[in-house]
Amino acid sequence: MKSRYFQRGEFACSCGCGFDTVDAETLAVLEDVREHFEAPVIITSGCRCPAYNARIGGAEHSQHKLGRAADIQVRGVAPAQVQDYLIDRYPGRYGIGRYDNFTHVDTRTNGPARW
Ligand SMILES: [Zn+2]
Ligand SMILES: [Zn+2]
Repeated sequence: MKSRYFQRGEFACSCGCGFDTVDAETLAVLEDVREHFEAPVIITSGCRCPAYNARIGGAEHSQHKLGRAADIQVRGVAPAQVQDYLIDRYPGRYGIGRYDNFTHVDTRTNGPARW
């Protein structure tokens, strides 16, 4: 993986299993967010192995299990603002969800999904 802003380890499954292969398209979206807001993007959840995803109550068909999703915080930017940007930037595509403390984005191929 080649990125100006992100290291592979930032996407590693939190259980310690070593799954950290993030999808290239997802990475490109995150780089775009980083450059748009000109602020650090913190990955609060990236890749998830099936066991870890189940343990934290993730959706059965979560894109996190495919390495195609990331939950992100952009430093100094409200999750709603991040979500608004993504929805404008990628109309009709991807999965974009807003939560209190982060924004979920995935590059699902059967999108769009918004929540
Ligand atoms: Zn794991
Ligand atoms: Zn997520």
